[in-house]
This record gives sequence, C-alpha cells and structure tokens, in this order.
Amino acid sequence: MTSLAPNPALKNDLIRLTLAEAKEGLRDKKFSSVELTQAYLESMKYYRNMNAYILETPELALERARESDERIAKGETRPLEGMPLGIKDLFCTEGVQMTAGSHILEGFKPGYESTVTQNLKNAGTVFLGKTNMDEFAMGSANITSYFGNVINPWKRADGKDLTPGGSSGGSAAAVAGGLALAATATDTGGSIRQPAAFSGIVGLKPTYGRCSRWGIVAFASSLDQAGSMTRDVRDAALMLAVMAGHDPKDSTSAPFEVPSFEKVLTQGVKGLKVGIPREYRLDGMNEDIVNLWEKGAKWLKEAGAEIVEISLPHTKYSLPTYYVLAPAEASSNLARYDGVRYGLRVPGKTLDELYENTRSEGFGTEVQRRILIGTYVLSAGYYDAYYLKAQKVRALIARDFKLAFQNVDVILTPTTPSAAFALDEKPTDPVTMYLNDVLTVPANLAGLPGISIPAGLSNEGLPLGLQLIGPAFDENVLFRAGRVLEEAASFKSFLER
Ligand code: GLN
Repeated sequence: MTSLAPNPALKNDLIRLTLAEAKEGLRDKKFSSVELTQAYLESMKYYRNMNAYILETPELALERARESDERIAKGETRPLEGMPLGIKDLFCTEGVQMTAGSHILEGFKPGYESTVTQNLKNAGTVFLGKTNMDEFAMGSANITSYFGNVINPWKRADGKDLTPGGSSGGSAAAVAGGLALAATATDTGGSIRQPAAFSGIVGLKPTYGRCSRWGIVAFASSLDQAGSMTRDVRDAALMLAVMAGHDPKDSTSAPFEVPSFEKVLTQGVKGLKVGIPREYRLDGMNEDIVNLWEKGAKWLKEAGAEIVEISLPHTKYSLPTYYVLAPAEASSNLARYDGVRYGLRVPGKTLDELYENTRSEGFGTEVQRRILIGTYVLSAGYYDAYYLKAQKVRALIARDFKLAFQNVDVILTPTTPSAAFALDEKPTDPVTMYLNDVLTVPANLAGLPGISIPAGLSNEGLPLGLQLIGPAFDENVLFRAGRVLEEAASFKSFLER
C-alpha cells in the first residue's frame, strides 16, 4: 500500500466545480469541455496511487469532449453536455473492459451499454474511466477489489491512509479528490451512502426501480439500485433527472414519469414532518455522531420542519435479514460465471473441474463466502429456516417504514456508525465489517430512496454524513431536506480545504 502523492492538479480550479457550475462555465464559454476533461485527466494521472480507477479511458473521453464542444458551438446543448464523469466498473459500457472488481471477468468487454450509462451518454456526458469497487460490490471498504484498495483523499491527523468506504469507494474517492466531476455508483446495502459519508460528498440511492438495472452486473437483484456521487445536492438532482426513467428492458423498472427534481431544490422544509427513529440510536454510538444527528434535527427545525420521534421496531433484524437475502440472491446471480460464458477460464480435466478451478481462482474470499452462505440458506433443508424467514422479516421492516410515513414526510438518521477507518485498522472479521451497513441496509430492504449529506466532522477531523430516507418515489423530499441540511452545515469538502 502506498501513501497518496500530493496532487499538483489541485491548483486547477476546474476540478473543484460542481456540475451546475461547470454547466454554466461551458455555456458562458469560460472553458471548453476538452479543457474541463483535460483538467480531470491530469488530476487522475497525479493521483493514480489513490487507485480510484480500474481503467482510465482518456482517448475516448477527449473524443466525446470534442463532440460536446462541437454541439455547444452549434447551439445543440444537451442537459449534461461535456461533463466528465467516473463510471463504477459495475456498469457495462459498450466495447470498454469491465471487471466488477473481479478477476473472473478478466478480458470481458461488453457488447452493449447499460441503460443508465446510455442515458448519461445521450445527455452529453464524457466518461473518464471505470472506477474501482469491492468485488461484485460486496464490501464496505473497497478492500475486496481484485485491483487493490482505494485510498481516501482525506487524512487523519496521524497521517494514516483511510478507506473511502465501499463498495463504490473508487467513485466516492474520485469525486471527493477531484478525479471526476460526478460519478455513477450502485447501492445494495449502503454502497453509495456509506462511501459518500466517508469521503465528504453527497451520495444518492434512488427508490428501487427508479433507475434501470439493465446492463449493471447483478449482485442482489431485489436490492440493487443505481445512483450518484456528487459534490452537492443540486448535482444529485441533475444526475438523477438524466439517469432515471422507465426501461422496458428491466421488468422491475418503474413505469413512472421522472419528476422535475431541480425545481424543488429551493422549496425548503416548512411544514414537513421529520421522523427521528429511536432504534437508530445504537448502543455505544460515537458521541460526535449523536451530536451531529441532533444538530441536523435542529437545522431542519429552524428551517420550519416539525421533528417527531418515531419507532421502526424491526430495525434490529435488518442486518441479519440483509446478510441472508443478499448472499442468497448473489449465489444465484453469480452462478453464470462458470469459465465458459465470460472472462476467465482455468482449464481442468473435466467440465466440473473447469468450473471449480475457474471459480476458485476467479472469485476472491469475500465473494466465495457470500456464495457459500447464499447456497446454504437456499438449500432444501434450510430454505424455510433462513431464506423464507428473512423474506418475512423483510416484509415487516418495509411495513415499519410504511406506517412511519403515514405520520412523517422524511426520516433523518446518521449514515454510518463511525467515520472512515484506517486501512491498517480494518476489521479482520467479516461480521464487524458488516456492522458498517447497519444504518443503510433498512432502506434497501424496503426499497426506499436515501441520501447521505456531508454534515460535519468527527472528533478526528473526518467527514460524517447525515442520511435522509424518503417514501418510495419521493426523491424530491430528499432534495428539499438535503438542501436545507447542506446549507446549514456549510461543510467544507476536501477540495475546498
Ligand atoms: N456493504 C454491503 C455489502 O457488503 C453493501 C454493499 C452494496 O451496497 N453493494 O453487502
């Protein structure tokens, strides 16, 4: 593991802009998309030992940026014209190597484009490359990636390298550190919100079904959802407006109109009821997190919201439920990597041996663990005891939220139980690592939208996030309340320090 080199590209103000500001700059001809893209490519080069990208695609990026500049010159501007983005390496982009952070996809170049990245391309964006991630999105620290861990641009006073969180650690570190203007990510149990919180940026997981899953490598299909990493709430609204929409190619994609997210940003929270779930106050939770949570409630109250204590009684079952269901779905989804159809093939004397050799060599330890757990809970003797039981508990967890949203408009919680931890202090046992997801997993089980807003610093000077959870298909309430929190917190990002 190497420490981060200083990044001389940080002197360039172009890598500090938000999407909204960059759009304005392009429109006013202050710079071109090629210049903007070059600034990011330069920054990526200097910060290469952050390991935020698995693959950089500078030629493709510059080609797309030139096309954007041509369209701008002709006055044909698209919604996110010329904006350089990082793409999590779980999204298929046509003709570009994709790995899902795994050895098993070695050499795989998708022949098609995910719907979300196609939507982003249609909107005029420029892809800088594929960002690093935990293998098959399984992890909370970006350390299960076959391509090595990512380093968080933030440092603790003792100078130790920190995790940016996971599984979308590359996307988070890239946006926080000035290696992408914004990025795509996915969230199955917290993989957008937790790394966003650890890196001091905004992470949005939309409602399940809001964005198409087509062309995104499946981890746990009933939980996976695409979303964004951005520098502020407005940018999250701009990204979602483009990424979202019904897709006939994904039967779980919702046949709803995409509302105008940007319009609500200035609406504030006057008259909204904000729920504070008492079960999210964990035993032994860090005081700085509890204090920030109280501050967040105060900010919303000062802006005219009513704060209401609520109960989500089945919260304590969320983590065990998730860690039965997600591996079950993963074991089924990952059966397709057999050494015949995709990527890596390790030969054997028989077909069974080929499967065994390929899967033993191709999958890392955490992925193998999940496949084993998943296969076990789905097996004939244990299906009722584990899988079916977990499905029933999942329904209770979803019902808790449903009942809560009869009385409140949005729920406020911390995003994570701690700030980013040092890479050499990472938990060695899987269960301690799984505890990272305790506050984020319930929203996935219930299919609800959630956002993490950078809101303050831990007593070690590291970013902490506040999470807002909304009713299904009401991302607008997250943008409204998120904007209020963001303004009240006036958090200084890594790039503004
Ligand atoms: N950290 C969780 C896990 O390991 C969530 C991952 C995710 O959201 N993709 O499963």
